[in-house]
Amino acid sequence: MSLTGFGEFSLIRKIKEKVGDSGLLIGIGDDTAAALPTPGMALLATADLLAEGVHFDLSWHLPKILGRKSLAVNLSDIAAMGGIPRHALLSLALPKDVSTEFVDSFIEGFLEIAAEHGVTLAGGDTSASKGGLFINVTMLGEQFPELVVRRSGAKAGDLIFMSGTAGDSALGLRLLRGGSRDGSAVKCHTDPVPRLLLGRILAERRLATAMIDVSDGIASDLGHILEQSKVGGILNLAHIPRSVEFKKIISVDSDGYNLLPLTGGEDYELLFTVAPENQDKIAPLAVESGVDLTCVGIITAGSGLVLASDDGSSCISNCRGYDHFK
Ligand code: ADP
Ligand code: MG
Repeated sequence: MSLTGFGEFSLIRKIKEKVGDSGLLIGIGDDTAAALPTPGMALLATADLLAEGVHFDLSWHLPKILGRKSLAVNLSDIAAMGGIPRHALLSLALPKDVSTEFVDSFIEGFLEIAAEHGVTLAGGDTSASKGGLFINVTMLGEQFPELVVRRSGAKAGDLIFMSGTAGDSALGLRLLRGGSRDGSAVKCHTDPVPRLLLGRILAERRLATAMIDVSDGIASDLGHILEQSKVGGILNLAHIPRSVEFKKIISVDSDGYNLLPLTGGEDYELLFTVAPENQDKIAPLAVESGVDLTCVGIITAGSGLVLASDDGSSCISNCRGYDHFK
């Protein structure tokens, strides 16, 4: 059935039913939601807008997986602050010909990943769209103020680590455009895993001096840490973790071998810096947090990002991350 027959209020009622008992003071259905904050904790707030044709393509983002990704990209921002995700607001602008089955599957995916991370859907907004599907998620989280990890805390001598592997999402997108619909790289692109447990452990044990999630490519996102921390950095290109599938498809001497991890983006892995005296505490966290951790470089005094190769050569990075307006 199309939404024209179903109507906005039936849709909201249905979402409210699926959420069930939210545990909030006031959940979906009033003018605002209301929740009790955890005493002493700071509120973390973030939003991501996903626009059809810009961030996703409905020919390969299945509605349920798109629902998961809409929340996952926001959860990744909470992870990068070392935060605990709490509540989400979901705003949808839907073309009138979208089917109720599509919205049902989307909400199912959204609520599935929300449940995995203890997040409640507290409200949102619903509108018609005259040009494509728009999804906006506002995510609220918490953490004690002294534990929140910023981009600005890296110091010369700190080691640069990253979780998981890099470049898979960009490779996945390339494969999807070529007609593939499965494989681990495709999954990385369509159904990314936010590294909440890792982010929280790093924050609560005060192990990360700075942290960011890799949404625009390592070069650009590490660049943000360097700029905001007023330091420089050396990234060892050979040390960037690449998956088995990545190495099978992208040969080590092709451009993509470095460019996909550096500029591809949407990996949603955590990139963080660690004081040298704490570096031995990082390897054991891989088991605890369920994701591999790799040292990829070092913070230096000065400014700018240097890309170093195994043969001893190096160059200043001029890689730019994805810029929507360029
Ligand atoms: P208002 O006119 O005050 O914006 P709405 O009719 O848009 O109120 O929303 C009614 C209730 O439904 C609110 O609690 C709102 O947060 C919730 N809501 C609306 N759209 C969504 C959505 N897409 N997902 C979750 N909750 C929604
Ligand atoms: Mg409204």
